[in-house]
Amino acid sequence: MGKNGSTRVVMLGTGTPRPDPNRSGPATAIVVNDTPYLIDFGAGVIRRATAAYEKGVTALGFGGVNIKTVFLTHMHSDHTIGYPDLIFTSWVMGRKEPLQVFGPKGIKAMTEHVLKAWEVDIDVRTNGFSQKNPTGRKVSAHEIAPGAVHKDSNVTVTAFPAQHEDVVDSFSFRFDTPDRVIVISGDTTPTRALIDHSRDCDVLVHEAYSMESYHRVSPHWQDYRRRAHTSSIQLAEIANEVKPGLLVIYHRSNAGAASASADSEDVLLDEIRQSYKGRVVAGHDLDIF
Ligand SMILES: [Zn+2]
Ligand SMILES: [Zn+2]
Repeated sequence: MGKNGSTRVVMLGTGTPRPDPNRSGPATAIVVNDTPYLIDFGAGVIRRATAAYEKGVTALGFGGVNIKTVFLTHMHSDHTIGYPDLIFTSWVMGRKEPLQVFGPKGIKAMTEHVLKAWEVDIDVRTNGFSQKNPTGRKVSAHEIAPGAVHKDSNVTVTAFPAQHEDVVDSFSFRFDTPDRVIVISGDTTPTRALIDHSRDCDVLVHEAYSMESYHRVSPHWQDYRRRAHTSSIQLAEIANEVKPGLLVIYHRSNAGAASASADSEDVLLDEIRQSYKGRVVAGHDLDIF
């Protein structure tokens, strides 16, 4: 990695609120010309970033110290619970520049509250014996609206509205890099905006649940899924319209199932492949696409 034409998608966390030890909370890195961009910061984000570093994704820096530009799809806890880890672990490991975080309404308040909650630690580490640099623990939080939300020499990032339960401010993101177009669905039911923004993209990273698991949950939870997430059948329809170079499934919701019961990714893939004949894989933590 590191030269032009080297954009990579690194799956740091492919999980859901369910604390699957093999799947960290939602987090995806896009690396362009050795510069990392992070989308979402679920549980375990910096452990997984460090595992990716040790696997060869050195652009992240050890402990995620090179992560500076971050995007958040929505405020649900499974996507944000790694926020203090993201801020403080990478600072303690040596990050000097403030984080730039782009997210929905509420991200500014969350940022202030997290910094306030850790003020004793910030004070000790800034002024105490184990002195850290005074800048790396700072965060600039930007509350975004649909449209272009970030542009630099590597990437143009466009946010567009997702449709997720009653989460008013919820986004999908499109990344245009010199060599690839990558779309990250976030948590969403099918939307026209996603189809319009991801047509012919190189990689579509999309959430989904299986109909097999859907039929095993109560009508209440079936209703919830229809309001909040995308079924295998719906995702196959989306993919047939979008024709992505590669479809990567992540955030495999099994909402409403008994907490200890796992559903099968093979079943989900089979359901999608019944009507979608393009390339599709189930993403696992530390996969690189
Ligand atoms: Zn989620
Ligand atoms: Zn959510």
